[in-house]
Amino acid sequence: MPSERRQPRALLPVFLCVVILLVFVFWQGRTTPSQADALPYGLLLLALVGGMLLGRGGAARRERSFAHAAGAVALAEIPPVRFADVAANEEAMNSLRDLVDFIRRPEAFVRMGARIPRGVLLHGLPGTGKTLMARALAGEAGVPFFAVNGADFVEMYVGVGASRIRSLFAKARKAGRAVVFIDEIDAIGKKRDNRSDEREQTLNALLSEMSGFHDGHGVVVLAATNRIDTLDEALLRAGRFDRQIEVPLPGLREREMILSVHARTKPMDPAVDLTCVAAQTALFSGAKLEGLLNEAAILAVKRGGCAITRQDIDTAMDTLLFGQEQTLARRQQEREVTAAHEAAHALATAVLLPESSIRKVSIIPTGRGAAGYSMAVPPEKLFHRKQELLHHIAVALIGREAEMLLLGSDHVTNGAANDIEKAALLAQRMVCEWGMLPGSEEPYLFAQPQKDAAAQRWLQLGQQLAAGLLHSRRAQWEQLTRLLLEKEVIGESEIRAVLSDTQPPVPSGFPCTPAGC
Ligand code: ADP
Ligand code: MG
Ligand code: ZN
Repeated sequence: MPSERRQPRALLPVFLCVVILLVFVFWQGRTTPSQADALPYGLLLLALVGGMLLGRGGAARRERSFAHAAGAVALAEIPPVRFADVAANEEAMNSLRDLVDFIRRPEAFVRMGARIPRGVLLHGLPGTGKTLMARALAGEAGVPFFAVNGADFVEMYVGVGASRIRSLFAKARKAGRAVVFIDEIDAIGKKRDNRSDEREQTLNALLSEMSGFHDGHGVVVLAATNRIDTLDEALLRAGRFDRQIEVPLPGLREREMILSVHARTKPMDPAVDLTCVAAQTALFSGAKLEGLLNEAAILAVKRGGCAITRQDIDTAMDTLLFGQEQTLARRQQEREVTAAHEAAHALATAVLLPESSIRKVSIIPTGRGAAGYSMAVPPEKLFHRKQELLHHIAVALIGREAEMLLLGSDHVTNGAANDIEKAALLAQRMVCEWGMLPGSEEPYLFAQPQKDAAAQRWLQLGQQLAAGLLHSRRAQWEQLTRLLLEKEVIGESEIRAVLSDTQPPVPSGFPCTPAGC
């Protein structure tokens, strides 16, 4: 219990006692001994009772003020926000649309024997619109929105957090259909290293409230976090926040959509091309884009204009990015390295693993710390051949090879950590589990040093294959890199188009914005 917090309030009765005692001493100096005998007891009793009453009143006030701080006085109104106010990627929006149905007519799903998600976790970098989405979900479903913020639960009296959680859920149940939103849930749901008693109790209350739900309830619990990797696994288990929606930084197209959403309420000069603004705001979050237009609007007012011009937006951008030139240059370089790395993975997947389908390749950073990613779905089959496994190793190692070509071997980055781990594990399994040796007839090795040498040889072969591919298809690799820098996310058809050379040649250099901006 944080007793030091109690002291200021506990001092009040003590202070009163002292005052009364002083009055008593003063009084005693002027009275006869018989009067003085009765008075001290009367006054002391008065002081004690008064002090106790005051102390209790303080406790009640404390309780109320913490209740307020914990957001227990949750908004219970239907937010005025709709999905039309959110410009997010299609995947996230589709998941949200599903939830609207769950809230509106849970009976239909129960009747069909479908399992309704209990908890949904929105995760992504700050400013990507998670809070906005939660409010829009309640608004779209037309149900009250009960919100608390995990950060408000930190350093509270033991038991207060838990009781707040319980009362929050009780209110939501009473409302019938509702969205319960726990923002910044990582503050209460961090992994179990040195968590305080209080957090433990709050978290347990949350977990038990969530498992107490019946499927027929139209209550959906939403939580948001910037750091899903720091969350306690207990929160992510089935029946809890088992549905996760990743809210990535907006790509080029989404940035344009976000800008148009926020431009709707502002007079814009017709010459402003939001596509161009979107192209120049790589890595901006939704919140930052909103801030950019807001800053531009303020500038337009200041100069007495009647609409926001391109010049206002440019000046606003300068203001926002002031003093960041160096980081901008560094960011741009990091973007190029990421693009070259991911383009190489894409190229190798398309060429060496033709049976896999490439879902998408992206250079938009993820909330999990990756600078970019390429997502490929392997074919469903029982057996994998030796040759094909070697190709998998090459696909994994080609990211680093690309960095070597681009930056030189002294300047490669730590961006290939996962790739190397994956390749090493595969090589090991090939030798130890599947008895596959490079270019050898005898399938079994028993001694560890021999096994290690064989795995090492597989890695070397994979690396050579990757390096060879980059050399023989350098033009295509570079073209994919440019395409990634320009579009940020590309799909299979775009990659195949580059490989089949049906695209018009792109001028050399790395144009980072579409032509004409
Ligand atoms: P988060 O909760 O992920 O940190 P917020 O929801 O608080 O982000 O976003 C802050 C503001 O940024 C929003 O109120 C909205 O004005 C703007 N914004 C962020 N993402 C989007 C988006 N996808 N579409 C429209 N506006 C957005
Ligand atoms: Mg938020
Ligand atoms: Zn990689």
